[in-house]
Amino acid sequence: MASALHKLGYGLYVVTSADGEKKNAMICNTVTQVASSPDRLAVSVNKSNFSHDMIKRSGVMNVNCLTEDAPFSVFQKYGFASGRDGDKLAGEQVFCTANGAPVLGKFINAFISLKVTDYSDMGSHGLFICEITDQAVLNDKPSMTYAYYHAHVKPKPPKKPTGFVCKICGYIYEGDTLPEDFICPVCKHPASDFEKL
Ligand code: FE
Repeated sequence: MASALHKLGYGLYVVTSADGEKKNAMICNTVTQVASSPDRLAVSVNKSNFSHDMIKRSGVMNVNCLTEDAPFSVFQKYGFASGRDGDKLAGEQVFCTANGAPVLGKFINAFISLKVTDYSDMGSHGLFICEITDQAVLNDKPSMTYAYYHAHVKPKPPKKPTGFVCKICGYIYEGDTLPEDFICPVCKHPASDFEKL
């Protein structure tokens, strides 16, 4: 059944954390400003993520605002791997803010440094309520949204070719109709030895 929850719009961010020498980064779509004067952000992190425990211990994180030019490799690197298994920031050009957490060197247009003031256990996720300790806009590129990611960044499954396959040799004729007098260019069998894909 279609869920109305799929109609909610989200941005995409890389949330970075630092706990002593260990630094980590994860893809996050649940960063929201929830109050002003003073500004408060809420960041929800799955409790099974390594970053969740790092942020809970250290009480700090940076939100890196991804831009539309971020390639799929950024999502693979920070989203499809765990910091438990290795250093996700190895080889990356980053700088660290005063709270010790990294800021990515590219594919972001801003960063926000956060200090955790409250925490709620939401079941699957931990909700961090944060105050802003530092922030900067780096450029004017458009921010990455979840919708843009699905439409333009995430690889599409390969389109199934329409056509006919030679049952003898596997040659594929691309097209909606196979000419009756078609001869397979590979095995020289006639059109009757082809079947529709
Ligand atoms: Fe053939």
